[in-house]
Amino acid sequence: MTWKKTFGLAAVLVVVVVTISSVRYFLLARQTDQSPETMSAMNLMRIAGAKAEPTVTRSAVGGHIDTNALLPYLLGERMPVCGRGGRYAIGAIDEEPRCTVHGTFEDIRRAKRRELLRRTMCWWLPR
Ligand SMILES: [Zn+2]
Repeated sequence: MTWKKTFGLAAVLVVVVVTISSVRYFLLARQTDQSPETMSAMNLMRIAGAKAEPTVTRSAVGGHIDTNALLPYLLGERMPVCGRGGRYAIGAIDEEPRCTVHGTFEDIRRAKRRELLRRTMCWWLPR
């Protein structure tokens, strides 16, 4: 095999791997994800949204929010439940709400991104 043929073969191989990875990335990214992690992230967003309600922020004493003030702004007027048994800490007014199992919304987002990249780039590895 000549050097040119070897190089051509390697180039084709690279194109094939990049194409498969790209297609996988977009297919995986488009999937509707209802995993407990994603649900927990959505719950944290709901809690953060409820915390931002003017009535709730006004009722906060020394930066601390009363759970009862928050409930009217949550679905079914109750605290959401984490699918992995975590409990949600509302946190002070200037803090992000967090799940005892999953952490903050940002923690879940980062973990999800890592998982998506791992599944995209290392598709030959077993799960
Ligand atoms: Zn959780």
